[in-house]
Amino acid sequence: MDEIRDLYQQVILDHNKNPHNFHKMDDADSALEGFNPLCGDHYTFYVKFDGETIADVSFEGSGCAISKASASIMSTALKGRTRAEAERLFELFTSIVTGKIDVVEHVAELGKLAAFAGVAEFPVRVKCATLPWHTLHGALQGGATRVSTE
Ligand code: ZN
Repeated sequence: MDEIRDLYQQVILDHNKNPHNFHKMDDADSALEGFNPLCGDHYTFYVKFDGETIADVSFEGSGCAISKASASIMSTALKGRTRAEAERLFELFTSIVTGKIDVVEHVAELGKLAAFAGVAEFPVRVKCATLPWHTLHGALQGGATRVSTE
């Protein structure tokens, strides 16, 4: 787990400093608001679909380093995925950060997302890491346009 811990630190630092896809999307199909009152993380996520494929994801807003890094990596990871693949990653990611499954068995599938296994050691930060995912999950299901962790 030492490698995962180092990767975690590095990924959080890099993506907090230089978040990917950090901008408004004017022609988005969905705009969703995600709010974590416990920490103050507050973002708007934009998604554009091309049939069953997620063509583009972006976000704007503010929050802690973990939530911002998670949103950044998620936006990159989901581009070009089908809805079904995105659902699979959502399940995998939430299971990893809550320590329900062993990250080592899923490193290849997760890529940089594996770094977030480090969050499982800090239960209060789990909501920061999963906020972007729960919000996007709402978009995939065509449901709520505003998601709060509380
Ligand atoms: Zn947070």
